[in-house]
Amino acid sequence: MKIIRKIEEIRKYSIKNKSEGKKIGFVPTMGALHDGHLSLIEKSLSLSDITIVSIFVNPLQFGVNEDFDSYPRNLETDKEILSNFNIDVLFLPEINEFVGPDFSTIVNVGEIVKKFEGVSRPQFFLGVATIVSKLFLATLPDYAFFGQKDYQQSLVVRKLSKDLNFLTEIIVSPIIRESNGLAMSSRNDYLTKNERDLAGVIFSAIDNTKTFINKGENNRKRINSLLHTRLRNVEEIKIDYACAATADELEEPEYFDEGENIVLLVAVYIGKVRLIDNSIVRLPIKAFNQNTEFKEGL
Ligand code: AMP
Repeated sequence: MKIIRKIEEIRKYSIKNKSEGKKIGFVPTMGALHDGHLSLIEKSLSLSDITIVSIFVNPLQFGVNEDFDSYPRNLETDKEILSNFNIDVLFLPEINEFVGPDFSTIVNVGEIVKKFEGVSRPQFFLGVATIVSKLFLATLPDYAFFGQKDYQQSLVVRKLSKDLNFLTEIIVSPIIRESNGLAMSSRNDYLTKNERDLAGVIFSAIDNTKTFINKGENNRKRINSLLHTRLRNVEEIKIDYACAATADELEEPEYFDEGENIVLLVAVYIGKVRLIDNSIVRLPIKAFNQNTEFKEGL
């Protein structure tokens, strides 16, 4: 595994490999690697000739009162973990070259960045889109791998890649979870053992709410209320948002359409730790259900 820090060097590396007909897979991360990250790396290894992983704690995506300074940084452990995989390059952008003191360009993807995470963290997607653009321009990937764990982020990155005509296909992989259903996250390191156990309710609340949608519940406010009620079962949890929206555009209609994909999006605090999770569920087509019931009744 080659370590590259300079933009010019990684770009030359990618151009050379692309000129030899090799497909470049890119996995951007902020480090403190866990199995969620590793699932993206495995996906890249299976689809690409060259896999580049980056570790960069992006200062532009943290608000002033957020955890940029305390965000877990375990570079030596991360390198050790990565050495078990057949990755080609670990890209470690240098902060001064990447976002130097005179850096001022911001990439704003539009309406989608204002919703949900964007309400609670107004600078978040501006920072993500800006740095993802820079990372793409440095690594020139054919494929870039993201996790569904950050669902809204995956939509932002897809839109960004399409609008700016990046020659990069965005590939989104499923959420990897702990045994109690808690979505793996570098921020889980902040939780005590008891908090980790309690955090299992996030997944069970989402999962339980999905059963109502599977049965045909399509009223958005009722779905939101079911989700809130289940999350409130654990008093240590403070809800930031827990909402249903259309999976493609994150719209919030009064009623969802038959056959529509709905995403349940959750952000909560346990103590000072902010955790997000989501799941997609397809609203059944009633006509199909009625037919089924009719046949069963025969
Ligand atoms: P981060 O280091 O938190 O910026 O995450 C880097 C990438 O890993 C992002 O595309 C995340 O969506 C993805 N990721 C983080 N946690 C998980 C998880 N539990 N399962 C799958 N992907 C994840």
